[in-house]
Amino acid sequence: MKRRILLGVALVAVLGVGWLLYDQGSSMPDAKSDGTASTATADGADAMPSASQADAAPQAQDIVDFRMLDLDAGWFRYADGAIMVTEDGGVHWRPAGPDWREPVDEDGTGAKEADGDAEKLADEVERAIRAIEAAYTEFLPGETIDYEGRQLAVKRAQPVSGQIGWALAAEGSGLGMPLLVTVDGGQTWHDEVTADLRARMEEEKNRREGRAEEAALYGSPELARKAIKPGWTLLPDRTFPGDVVLVRHGEPGELEWQGKTYKLQPYKAGYFTYLPISRSMEPGLYEIGDGRLIVEEKEFKTQHLEVSKQMESMRENTERIQADQEKVGAARANSAATFLFDSEFIVPLEGRLSTPFGYTRYVNGKLSNSHMAIDLAVPQGTPIKAVNDGGVALADELYLSGNTIYLDHGLGLFSQYAHLSELQVAAGDTVKKGDIIGLVGSTGFSTGPHLHFAFWAHDVPVNPDLFVETTPFQWLKESA
Ligand SMILES: [Zn+2]
Repeated sequence: MKRRILLGVALVAVLGVGWLLYDQGSSMPDAKSDGTASTATADGADAMPSASQADAAPQAQDIVDFRMLDLDAGWFRYADGAIMVTEDGGVHWRPAGPDWREPVDEDGTGAKEADGDAEKLADEVERAIRAIEAAYTEFLPGETIDYEGRQLAVKRAQPVSGQIGWALAAEGSGLGMPLLVTVDGGQTWHDEVTADLRARMEEEKNRREGRAEEAALYGSPELARKAIKPGWTLLPDRTFPGDVVLVRHGEPGELEWQGKTYKLQPYKAGYFTYLPISRSMEPGLYEIGDGRLIVEEKEFKTQHLEVSKQMESMRENTERIQADQEKVGAARANSAATFLFDSEFIVPLEGRLSTPFGYTRYVNGKLSNSHMAIDLAVPQGTPIKAVNDGGVALADELYLSGNTIYLDHGLGLFSQYAHLSELQVAAGDTVKKGDIIGLVGSTGFSTGPHLHFAFWAHDVPVNPDLFVETTPFQWLKESA
């Protein structure tokens, strides 16, 4: 927990400093000043020198070097040593003040030594963020660029983020403004940052922020690096029948799984859906896009339950059971299209586990439905907590499960609480993690006070044990 908080703090620091500083440009030596370049900053223009301006002052073309520190800040240097800086991604350039010094990439050299856990973690986070950003960098600098149908030799090129990059044309390009920018991975180049180009940079800034925010959700910076990538990520990639997997992709889309289509929903930098692994799923290897899911073998135990003849006959009232199923199905059909929680799940109460998840059940010697929930035996009237933030999808008296609550946690994930003596929320309410939503009872098909507690993913009951003191983002583990 503490680690996650630190991680968040470290990420803020990383973002705030604007660390991303790629230096993959060519290592050609800088052109020597021939002494003819005039003081390029003489016009002091608070604007990017445009081609027309450069025509008026041809010496100003002699830009010998540049560097972008991120999507906002950067500088270029004229042959006479004068420096122009920008803070808005090259929309405006102004002469650097006397106190200006080139920002140094402290960590790039590895010279700095981390002392203390917080700093070590900050370093780790920074490396992970760099690796994530590198995976998302789609402009690879080459020797030349295609500018308005001409192949221009490049003196120095620098990818910044996503499809955005800068390149300085080599001497002799004849361009008024030889410092060029691309926002489409190098397909087209521009000598001026127009409002449209700047808007693309702002979009990329949001994406980068989303990636950093998402990185804080995973168990470690290393795991964040594994998870946040353009292709498929399975959280986790080894699972069991009855479990649920959170699936991530870098782009919007859908996923076909066991005859059903799951739409990926946007969240932070990725697109997600839950994938229920049914209890009857055959163990084996399943391909999911470029990802591989291993379903391992799991044995479920058998439980024999003896109930009164009167209770046994309850299960024969198929009309009421059918009506309830329709009610519950309708409630579960409306789930928020985003994650409604941002921290670990908790247990609804502390109690003795009387029936674990997935047991094969016989009632009075006859094979019944598998028990796709856990039963917690506690005294009548024990308060029940919401296991995480969410919305009340259903709070109603049902025939078999008695007084029942379904909480929507978003993306088709619900927690269910059954056999309550009292409902303390109503459908449509919003709840916070830890709120008391009702009291333990023995209503419906129940032999004594207990909480029947379940999770559902897209209408499939899934193992509640997966959610204890964790979040689905943390299901991704270091490989053994
Ligand atoms: Zn139960």
